[in-house]
Amino acid sequence: MRASRYLIATQKETPADAEIISHQLMLRAGMIRKLAAGLYTWLPMGLRTLRKVERIVREEMDKSGAQEVLMPAVQPAELWQESGRWEQYGGELLRLNDRHGRDFCFGPTHEEVITDLIRNELKSYKELPANFYQIQTKFRDERRPRFGVMRAREFIMKDAYSFHVNAASLDDTYQLMHQTYCNIFDRLGLDYRPVQADSGSIGGSASHEFHVLASSGEDAIVFSTESDYAANIEKAEAVAPAGERAAPGEAMQEVHTPGQKTIEAVSTFLGLPAERSVKTLLVKGEADENGESGLVALILRGDHTLNEIKAENLAGIAEPLTMATDEEIVEAIGCNPGSIGPVNLPVPVIVDRSAAHLADFVCGANKDDYHLTGVNWERDVALGRVEDLRNVVEGDQSPDGKGTLEIRRGIEVGHIFKLGNKYSQAMNATVLDENGKAVIMEMGCYGIGVSRIVAASIEQNHDDKGIIWPDAIAPFEVAIVTLNAHKNAVVAEAGDKLYEQLRQAGYDVLLDDRNERPGVKFADMELMGIPHRFVVSERGLAAGTLEYKGRRDEDKQDIALEEALPFLV
Ligand code: ATP
Ligand code: MG
Ligand code: MG
Ligand code: MG
Repeated sequence: MRASRYLIATQKETPADAEIISHQLMLRAGMIRKLAAGLYTWLPMGLRTLRKVERIVREEMDKSGAQEVLMPAVQPAELWQESGRWEQYGGELLRLNDRHGRDFCFGPTHEEVITDLIRNELKSYKELPANFYQIQTKFRDERRPRFGVMRAREFIMKDAYSFHVNAASLDDTYQLMHQTYCNIFDRLGLDYRPVQADSGSIGGSASHEFHVLASSGEDAIVFSTESDYAANIEKAEAVAPAGERAAPGEAMQEVHTPGQKTIEAVSTFLGLPAERSVKTLLVKGEADENGESGLVALILRGDHTLNEIKAENLAGIAEPLTMATDEEIVEAIGCNPGSIGPVNLPVPVIVDRSAAHLADFVCGANKDDYHLTGVNWERDVALGRVEDLRNVVEGDQSPDGKGTLEIRRGIEVGHIFKLGNKYSQAMNATVLDENGKAVIMEMGCYGIGVSRIVAASIEQNHDDKGIIWPDAIAPFEVAIVTLNAHKNAVVAEAGDKLYEQLRQAGYDVLLDDRNERPGVKFADMELMGIPHRFVVSERGLAAGTLEYKGRRDEDKQDIALEEALPFLV
């Protein structure tokens, strides 16, 4: 590509509304432009990197045996009514009407659409397991779109959905996807960690997130220095300070309802859409004969306003109702801010502040499959029944006894789930087994934030001059900067020749043939993060040399003209 014919939309000034470095640099390097909140145009320079990320994801998914499909972004409400999510999904779901007044949504995810497809297409266990993926535009009406493409409303996701005749087969594909994700993030050159995640809100038995380590990350993750132990602290979070002690030896009461059911029940009671609504319940006092205790506080996930809550249902349960701030939550329930995590802020929180002063409540903690009541905090943590990562400090021993713990901020770039039969059951997706009997399929789903990865990579690869792309996803791998080529035909010709030579060798090359001062060209190539730079100048040509500088190098070096290609290899 010739820079003189290409949209180099670099900017000197740091945009005022861009809070984190990747957002600033993507704007300054001319990769993206904002259309409206959470909506971005990818300029040519940015799109090249986005496509390279896509390509790596596609290649590794293909290698795993997954089959690529492309589903519509707009989805009929009927499918979401069938799965129950039309009612449950909160404000993130963008609902639309067509000219006939029919309900649709712009897909934030595609479980319903793929399940509908597969229940019609696959008939026999012999066709399983099967894994289908797409790389496609999603829309989520995020409460707080921010950080550019990192948390956009419209964004690109790779989503995959696997189908199985039994849970063992799902386990195999889940492992395969775990490995495939590691392959993808390795190729992308990211410093990342797979961590155990909270699967509660989607339902299903197992879930891992893949986090890129970066101080701007919205999640807090904890991991062992010596073993594979790693978790999203949000998952392991529990929320009440040690309070009233139950008598030693008194059994902790486990209410054997799936945590999801409890969440749904409470959500329904409050008049909230269930999925992702209630994050945490704090219950007070001893459990009654039904195993339930009084509610003193609940923390909601995502995007619910107090107006959405049936306040009359809360009267007498959690009063006075208050919209609490971050600091107030910390003060009221003893959570450290890390364990709530800025990812969930601002969450509407209802805290009965008068009760909070009592600090005498027994906590309830949502475990993966159970909602626990009657937990005695100190005792049950000591017995290993409840995991307490609230007060984990770096250097603590890892729960598996291997190594010590590190805590870092993470950016969620991938997420894999065992869905089990949540969607296949609700939508009656069956195949015939060996005995000719219809069985509900097991499902897994696997997401990667393709557009988010571009920003996450910049968070890890930049300096004060700009982006530093790894070769694998650089918009251009090599920049050739010609000096005064408009006045010097020999320089222009040598630049052209090198450009053709490197292109023919398969490199993505940007020839900076613009009529600009050398300093401007160098600064642009550095800002845009091109990993390798050659300079063609009159002086160099006279000596038969080119100047080379790697984007991470301190110094430039002269190399013989004909050495350029072998030098790169
Ligand atoms: P987050 O916790 O960041 O809101 P999520 O858990 O809601 O993400 P998933 O439903 O797991 O997201 O979707 C799969 C992947 O899509 C995520 O791991 C993330 O990389 C990406 N993603 C989700 N929401 C956004 C967004 N608003 N903008 C860009 N990428 C996103
Ligand atoms: Mg989200
Ligand atoms: Mg998440
Ligand atoms: Mg997720």
